[in-house]
This record gives sequence, structure tokens and C-alpha cells, in this order.
Amino acid sequence: MTKTSLYFLQTHIKKMCAINELSPQLSDATIKFNGDVIAYNLFLETVEQVPVAISITDKKAKILYVNKEFTAVTGYQPDDILGQNESILSDKRTPKTVYHELWHTIRNQKVWRGILCNRHKSGHRYIADLTIAPILNEANEITYYIGMHRDITQTHEAEKNVINQKLLIESVINASPIAMVVLDAQDHVILDNHNYKALVSDLDKGEPAAFFLTLLRNEMGEHWTQLQTDKQGFNHYEFKIEDKNGRRARWFSCAGNWFLENDIHVDAFFDQSAKHYLILTITDITRQRRQLEALHIQTLKTLMTEDERVRSIRETLLGAIHQIQMPMNQIKAAEQILKHKGTEQNSGLLNILQQIQTSGEEAIATMQHCLPNILHITEAPVNLNQILHEVLLLNSQRLLNNGIDVHWQPLAVLPHIMGSANRLRMLFNQLLDNAITAVSAPYSGEQYIKISTHLTPELIHVCIDDSGPGIPVDKHSKVFEPFYTANATGTHKVGMGLVIAKEIVTQHHGFIDIDQHYYQGCRFKISFPLPPHELGEETL
Ligand code: FAD
Repeated sequence: MTKTSLYFLQTHIKKMCAINELSPQLSDATIKFNGDVIAYNLFLETVEQVPVAISITDKKAKILYVNKEFTAVTGYQPDDILGQNESILSDKRTPKTVYHELWHTIRNQKVWRGILCNRHKSGHRYIADLTIAPILNEANEITYYIGMHRDITQTHEAEKNVINQKLLIESVINASPIAMVVLDAQDHVILDNHNYKALVSDLDKGEPAAFFLTLLRNEMGEHWTQLQTDKQGFNHYEFKIEDKNGRRARWFSCAGNWFLENDIHVDAFFDQSAKHYLILTITDITRQRRQLEALHIQTLKTLMTEDERVRSIRETLLGAIHQIQMPMNQIKAAEQILKHKGTEQNSGLLNILQQIQTSGEEAIATMQHCLPNILHITEAPVNLNQILHEVLLLNSQRLLNNGIDVHWQPLAVLPHIMGSANRLRMLFNQLLDNAITAVSAPYSGEQYIKISTHLTPELIHVCIDDSGPGIPVDKHSKVFEPFYTANATGTHKVGMGLVIAKEIVTQHHGFIDIDQHYYQGCRFKISFPLPPHELGEETL
């Protein structure tokens, strides 16, 4: 309020009060304001009817004038209240400091604005949004105060309700054992809870929401856009996240729901524009997964034991066939020589040799008949990280018992290959078994096994490194031959392990090699082609 308008009010309030005291009839007197002549009764009518509770007091807050709205808001008729102090409205709950500040402000000729708790004539309380302005005389002294207030109880309650609801929602969200985050259309985090904040440091993947959104979009492809357009939610999208050194993998299940919020900006007042948000929930399901995994590993162990039994029977029988085959060949050669000599006296010996041959061939045929069959292979998408992880778990006790350090370094996100999970498990189990045996041999150096996965545009690679004695380069191709051992001291089992390993790799259209340039021990490099749909366009 400017000094001019204060002065204007001051001069005319006097008249107004005088008129009110002497006569309720309005005067036809006119006043001058900014050079315009306006009707005094028009001014008074306006103040009377304005929908704000107006009171005019003397310097001590004694009420001299109230308008109609004042009566409506406070319940006091002019007769009840004229001559009383404004403190009649005080509920005595408003802290004294508020009044001190109020009076300090208005006595310094400034306008005070604040919220007080007032008492209605009928006794109920209401919240008053009050403005008090001092009115000055020509000597610049305060002569009156004008107070204007509105009952904002309902607005106040509505605001408090909104705040309470927000606090309630926040505390419910924070108490939730699930990480929750609200994202705007640009993927910016608008709201999150304690569990989500914990993920930021736990996962070490930058903004967790951005990380999971990338995984979800990759996983869903076009479906994501469709869900977003239709505002349909999604559920149970599970991801395995390896930590930096690959030792502690964690599992998370993601769910999401889009919702619309009406735009609150002034520009959108007459528009029905709305913004869409995504509520993303990220549940750590590692514990449940580990339990399932333990069950799974138990089942795998049983299966592998059975596989192992079948394999060792095959190996034993094949070994026996191999062993019989050699003297059989020598007997056949001797028979040929005797036949060639053709003397009568050798006929008895020839006969014996032929009998030995026949019974030998029968024995081989019986053993071949007894060779157990390898189960039929069914192909399905296989994640090699998962297979390697299972194989590590299957061998965890042995690794621990031998004090072997395991460096498990999987690529965080690895495409699937088409293959037989069982056969691939058998392959890596064989290679890990060999590595453990090699590392456990008496050796002075560090005992470690490193398993890592890598990706090139067309291939998935698995490397199994061990710190054992290694295999001489000239023996690299021989180790894939039947019944060959690289270790003359006999620490390596004599068997078909690498032959079967190579057979499995070949069945999966891959290849297996020993790294010639790895000198700290032995490194097996196994590579599989990526399925066509995983190949980048540039590699097609
Ligand atoms: P009070 O003793 O009246 O005042 C409390 C403190 O305020 C005092 O200790 C003193 O520091 C200061 N104070 C009081 N009067 C003066 C004065 N004349 N000069 C300097 N300091 C002073 N109060 C409401 O509760 N509700 C209202 O709607 C309301 N409207 C008002 C409208 C106007 C135009 C004015 C001028 C005042 C209004 N007041 C209102 C304030 C009211 O006058 C009281 O100060 C207040 O209600 C506290 O009353 P009290 O009896 O508890 O204490």
C-alpha cells in the first residue's frame, strides 16, 4: 500500500466513521482521488460488500468499523464488536511472538501479513489469513489500522491433507522393502525411497534406474514402446547383475507402471495436458534365487553324477576295447604270416590263433554292445555365464579344499547361444576338473583359476586359465586325442575328457584351443558362434 493510498484512506475513514456514528444513511458527499471524482457512497458500498472481512481500528486496535463480510466470518454483528479490541478474536493459541512481530511491523508503518488462529463468536476456531495496514495522517503519523482477513480453514485443511498424504506416501514408500523410483518421460528421477538410494552405492552401476531401464528396453525391444503407449504395466522381469569382481551375483526383479499427472502450470489451465511418469520397482530376489539355485545345483549334482557314471563306464569299456585291439592286431598279423608260410605243422597254431581272434572279436562286440548310450541332445537358448557359474558352484567344495583362488570374470550381459545346457555343463566341468587337478599338483607358485567370458562381433569366448604346470606346445594338439595324458607323472587322469570336451564344442559349432602364448600355466580358449539374431548388422 503506497503512502498516497494510505493518506487517502486516512482522510476518508474519518468521514466514514463519523457518518456511521451519526447516521446509517450514506452521504452523497464526493471525494477526490487522483484527480477523479468518485461518489463517496460508492466507495462505502464497495468496502461494505467486498468479500473480505474488513475492520478499521484505532491505534490500540479498538474496533471502529467492520464490514458485512467481517460479520459473516467472525459471527459478530457491528453492535457486538464496535468499541472492543481486536484481541476478542484471538484464540490465545497464537504464540505471543507472532503478535510482537505483528505490532512491531505495523508500528513501523509497514504492512503485516500472516496467519492467526481466531475464535468465532460461536466458539469454534478458524484460521485467519490476515493483512494489517497502518493509516497515516498528513503529519505521517499512524492514526488507524485497517485489517483484512479471510477464513482459510478449508484451504489450510486441504493443504495439510495434501502434505499429510505426501508424508504418508513417502513413509509408506520408504518403509517398503522394495526399491522404488518415479521417473519422468526423460528418465529423470522425480522421487525415490531409501532402498533405491541404497542401490546407488550397492550396485556401482551409476543411476540404478537408468541401468535397469536399459536392461528392460533391451529385453523387451518393441514391446516396451507398446506398453508405454498403452500405459500397461509390466512385472517379473528378472536380471542377474554380476558385481565388479564377479564373485557375488545379485538378482533383481523389475516391475513398472505408467501413470498420468495433470499439468499444474498456468499455461495448461484451460488445456487438459498431462505428463506421464513411470513407477519402477526393483526387488532384490537374490536370497530366493540362491535357494532355488541351491536346489538346482543339488539336482545338477545328481544328474552330473549319473553322467559321470555313464562316462566312466564308456571310458572303461572304450579303454578295454582299445587295449584288446592292439594284441588282436598283432595276432591277426601272426595269422597272416602263418597262412603265408602254409606249412602243415602250423595248422594247430593257426587254429588256436583263429580261436583267440574269434573270442577276442566276440569280447569286443559284447563290450561295444554294453557301451551306454549318451542321452539325446535338446537345444535351447543357453547363457554361458549361468552354466559356468553352476559349474563353479558344483566344484566349490573341491576348490575350497584345495585352497584355490577363483577369479570369476563374466561379461555383465552375455547373449545366449543355442545348445544343450547339460552337454555344455559337462564340457566346462571337465575343463574345470582338469584345471583343479593341474593347480593342485605340487607346485610352489600361486594357486588360481581364472574363468572369464568375452564377446567379439561374431563369437562368445570363454577362457579358463590355471596356474598349474601347463602343457608343452608340441603336445597341444595331442591332448585332444583319446587316452593321451600330458603329464607323464600321472597327475592327470588318463582318459577321454578332452576328447569328449572337443566333441561337445564341435557339436555346438565352436572350437577349442590351448593358448600358445600363455606361459603362467594353461589357458583353454573356447569360442562359440553367436546366433544369427544376435549378430550386429555390420557383422552380417
Ligand atoms: P495483547 O496484550 O493484546 O497483545 C500481545 C502483544 O502484542 C503485547 O504484549 C504487545 O507486545 C503487542 N501489542 C498489543 N497491542 C499493542 C499496541 N497497541 N501497541 C504495541 N504493541 C501492542 N489478533 C487476533 O488474534 N486476531 C485478529 O484477527 C486480529 N486482527 C487485528 C486487526 C487489526 C487492525 C489490529 C491492529 C490488530 C489485530 N489483532 C488481531 C491483534 C490484537 O490486537 C491483539 O494484539 C492480539 O489478538 C493479541 O491479543 P492478546 O490479548 O493475546 O494480547
